[in-house]
Amino acid sequence: MAAGWLEDSAELAGVGNLPRRSAEMGNRVWCGRLGPGLVPPPGGWHPPLAFATLPPMRLLDMQAIGAELALKWDDGGESFIPLEALRRACPCAGCKGEVDALGQLHQGPEIALTAASFRLARLSPVGGYAIQPTWTDGHNSGLYPFAYLKRLGEAGPG
Ligand SMILES: [Zn+2]
Repeated sequence: MAAGWLEDSAELAGVGNLPRRSAEMGNRVWCGRLGPGLVPPPGGWHPPLAFATLPPMRLLDMQAIGAELALKWDDGGESFIPLEALRRACPCAGCKGEVDALGQLHQGPEIALTAASFRLARLSPVGGYAIQPTWTDGHNSGLYPFAYLKRLGEAGPG
């Protein structure tokens, strides 16, 4: 049961305002500071697509350095994401498929990735919550929410 999951941890007071709904729905967010007895699975707890429930964060700087995207966050953290991994993680419907109202996954025809698919032509901020990369093969329909980028940066190799 979710009851009591957050209540007893005084440490949580300082780690942002996780909406109560997250805990009740079981969308556990591993923040690295939970009390004893709560051991995250390898890779941590992450809600699959519940980014909207995470505390807001701000992106201070972004630039492609070599074959990596470097991101600087307002909490002092930095993320480095290999461009190839970034492209392969493209969340757009064409790359990742779309789930309809019945829960069926519809995936478009597979997009052939080439060297041009892993080079950035442009990076555009979107509404203060995401960035939209334009790749040199012309693909630009993926919106990467900040929380998703942060997670990609933490995933590391593999
Ligand atoms: Zn895509």
